[in-house]
Amino acid sequence: MRYISTRGQAPALTFEETMLTGLARDGGLYVPETLPRMTPAEIAALAGLSYEEVAFRVMRPFLGDSFTDAEFGECITRAYAGFGHAARAPLKQLQDNHFLLELFHGPTLAFKDFAMQLIGQLFQTALARSGERVTIVGATSGDTGSAAMEAFRGLSNVDVFILYPHGRVSDVQRRQMTTVAEANAHALAIDGTFDDAQARLKDMFNDFTFRDEVRLAGVNSINFARVLAQVVYYFTAAVALGAPHRKVSFTVPTGNFGDIFAGYLAKRMGLPIERLVVATNHNDILHRALSSGDYVTHGVTPSISPSMDIQVSSNFERVLFDAYGRDGVAVAQLMDELRRGGFHISQGALETLRADFASGRASEAQTSAMIARARAEMGELLCPHSAVGVHVAQDFLGTTPMVTLATAHPAKFPDAVEAATGLRPALPPRMADLFERPERMTRVPDDLTQIETLIREALAK
Ligand SMILES: *Cc1c(COP(=O)(O)O)cnc(C)c1O
Repeated sequence: MRYISTRGQAPALTFEETMLTGLARDGGLYVPETLPRMTPAEIAALAGLSYEEVAFRVMRPFLGDSFTDAEFGECITRAYAGFGHAARAPLKQLQDNHFLLELFHGPTLAFKDFAMQLIGQLFQTALARSGERVTIVGATSGDTGSAAMEAFRGLSNVDVFILYPHGRVSDVQRRQMTTVAEANAHALAIDGTFDDAQARLKDMFNDFTFRDEVRLAGVNSINFARVLAQVVYYFTAAVALGAPHRKVSFTVPTGNFGDIFAGYLAKRMGLPIERLVVATNHNDILHRALSSGDYVTHGVTPSISPSMDIQVSSNFERVLFDAYGRDGVAVAQLMDELRRGGFHISQGALETLRADFASGRASEAQTSAMIARARAEMGELLCPHSAVGVHVAQDFLGTTPMVTLATAHPAKFPDAVEAATGLRPALPPRMADLFERPERMTRVPDDLTQIETLIREALAK
């Protein structure tokens, strides 16, 4: 199994190399050269298996020789052992033919734990074998950083540094980063915005001396290994609802297009998915693109579903690659136009995309109203991201079962939930002492040299 870049100019890599590299050197994203397929009989045989067993069977063909069966099996077991629900990703009925897939039972209460916990284990296994160490640096507006700190804490061959904007993440999100006690995990509070944090991260990757010296590695959502881990719950959910004998649709609260791209992979692998519905908040570049063909940036307006506040969706490049017949030169050209403000998706490519994807958006008022309605009519407390999904799904309910992904626990965004319902959601019992745990973080100025110095000094200790 080899991985190729969406821009066609970087060398093909193995799974392990792809995972440790992240972004391709030509600026593209890695995708499998060919997709493994599962037959209806193989899909039917997943019924009744544990989440871990399904994870093994679905992901194994993507790994090639990078990991042995035993290594991979152990990584999966360790990755999901800390989840607070035996099913890992339980399904719950919301309405007639409408189900909620709860993806918030991981250690940081958002779906990002599914992928981050697994790649923490895969990184550690690969590095322990080669005797190497890497430094993971990430920038976060909240959920990615806490998931990464949790996943890499205490691993012997990895140091992790997370830059987050000082004073601009929620209390729960901050504490999930700053209360990690292990010495290899570092929360850095930058005096700036999320965009500043992300810009300094890019600067570090472009500073090749520093990059090579500390062996910088990235774990943002363009890492293919992260996307792959998210394919699994599309299979468990669809099989629970009757696949392969019955079709299922999914609605996915979307920001960077990573989670829904995993659903697209599941469909290409043979899972009978009728429709993949992209649900956006008022930062609706994807909904506009799928409606009109114009993929044009408008800047970001903050919302009550902050993990979906994006300017452009980086993983969208992966479906564009397929929609343009895997023409890397064409994709590179589109991405060039995007840097200048946007591009128009060709009619042929748009029709290809619309064969798989539908879309909708929820305004702030509609999101709040959905949180209130779900509480009153369905007895369900939704986080604002999940509420965007449930709102958009209403237009697509019918005879095919619809699964909406619940991407975070309501207690992670208590202010928005309380404003809509009057109820302040409580943290799950295993996390109830989060506000008593001691915090540890380092304030850093928005300055590349000082941030790099701090990382070098921390690594030297
Ligand atoms: C990251 C995130 C999303 C968006 O997922 P993408 O893969 O970026 O589309 C939605 N909801 C929550 C709670 C998130 O943390």
